[in-house]
Amino acid sequence: MTKTNFGWNFDNSYARLPKLLYTHLEPTPVRLPKLIRFNSALAEEMGLDPDALNSQAGTEYLAGNRTPEGAEPLAQAYAGHQFGHFTMLGDGRAILLGEQVTTKNDRLDLQLKGSGRTPYSRGGDGRAALGPMLREYLISEAMHALGIPTTRSLAVVSTGEPVYRETSLPGAVLTRVASSHLRVGTFQFAYSRGSDQDLRLLTDYAIARHDPGLSGSDRPYYDFLNAVMNRQARLIAKWQSVGFIHGVMNTDNMAISGETIDYGPCAFMDAYDPATVFSSIDAHGRYAFGNQPYIAAWNLARFAETIMPLLDPDEEKAFTLAQEAISGFSGLYRSCWLDAMGAKLGLFNNEPEDEGLIEALLEIMHRHHADYTNTFLALTFDRPEVRGLFEQPDFQQWKLQWQERLQRQSQSAGDVQERMKGANPAVIPRNHRVEEALEAAVSMGDFSVLDRLSEALAKPYAHTPNQAAYAAPAPESARPYRTFCGT
Ligand code: AMP
Ligand code: MG
Repeated sequence: MTKTNFGWNFDNSYARLPKLLYTHLEPTPVRLPKLIRFNSALAEEMGLDPDALNSQAGTEYLAGNRTPEGAEPLAQAYAGHQFGHFTMLGDGRAILLGEQVTTKNDRLDLQLKGSGRTPYSRGGDGRAALGPMLREYLISEAMHALGIPTTRSLAVVSTGEPVYRETSLPGAVLTRVASSHLRVGTFQFAYSRGSDQDLRLLTDYAIARHDPGLSGSDRPYYDFLNAVMNRQARLIAKWQSVGFIHGVMNTDNMAISGETIDYGPCAFMDAYDPATVFSSIDAHGRYAFGNQPYIAAWNLARFAETIMPLLDPDEEKAFTLAQEAISGFSGLYRSCWLDAMGAKLGLFNNEPEDEGLIEALLEIMHRHHADYTNTFLALTFDRPEVRGLFEQPDFQQWKLQWQERLQRQSQSAGDVQERMKGANPAVIPRNHRVEEALEAAVSMGDFSVLDRLSEALAKPYAHTPNQAAYAAPAPESARPYRTFCGT
């Protein structure tokens, strides 16, 4: 592989997998591509040339009008349980250009989203609107800054073409970067459409890509299942610790890598309430905040079913192994969650009573409609700024218990505060702030609001004075907040 002047360095291992898993296809060119957002730092990390890409010639690639040297564009096939119902899916509006091998020898998928119709588009137009693509860019990068595994965003290009939703909207293409786009749904597809050999090739591929250390194991598939579960347990615990609600945790939207993927109707919770749902299509609250760990377990059980044929040739034994693994998820998750929540309270070790202490605080927050992010900030800086909460007798009593707990560990008050500052973000992408920024960008072509918000979100644990302006929860007039899928 020789490096081009854009820095492309493709090695497309996915394109060497069984043909049923994808369709070779070029993106559909767009009329008038304009680079709207570009992530220079990420380009650099990927071994790409930011200056070359941040140009008209570079924009042609990021729009799908030109194919980078060494790319082998394809649309991936996958299936998925959507709100519990099994469906054949696939990249209906995305094209995987290929895998960029970075200077550090990391392998990263480069995918265009909104790049035109594919054989998996079903009724869809294969396109995406500018607002939602800017939203994915903003929130995925904010998640990364929060220290949460996620797909990244390299660029947003407007297409100069309208897309028709309820109204006519400006179209856009997002360049998404991921450690892979293997989903639980990819395995479901291989299991239901492919042979045992296809499934084995896909799984060996996933192991080589994400868990190369397991290839020498005497039970690599069982270990792989556990590795995937571990990553999900850690991921969901992190979501819960910052109040992130994915909104559409279908099995096709759960990545084997443990990265957050598919930013559709996601949003951050303001007042603590486990029943919080933002997505307009989630009428029954399947993907409510408090359900996320259970849904993860459910999705992982679907994953375990697909790789059962690899666990043991004896069906009964395979079933027992799968069940054994899956039954471990709740314990795994609980310990990740306790670590994440313990850090938010400045704990350095574990005590059996910690779980009760954390749950008690959440209950009090729920009872008093306290803002999730700001309650932890107020505890971090001992600022009774969360309206009403610090005056409540139940909270005051809880706070005494917490302070006693802190005294039982050897770390100083300064150490405790540092730990809390590193676990409690000063700023999250507040829904009304996100909407305000997107509105200015899309309707008025004014990107300054989005720029300032991005800047505030770039270092959420810095706790700088200019971040305080972004800490306020939404005014009543901005509620209830609703989000939409697949736009
Ligand atoms: P999502 O809800 O974004 O996870 O998407 C679910 C499925 O619908 C995936 O197979 C997508 O590729 C497909 N899809 C979403 N939007 C479109 C669109 N505008 N055109 C074609 N397919 C789409
Ligand atoms: Mg999806």
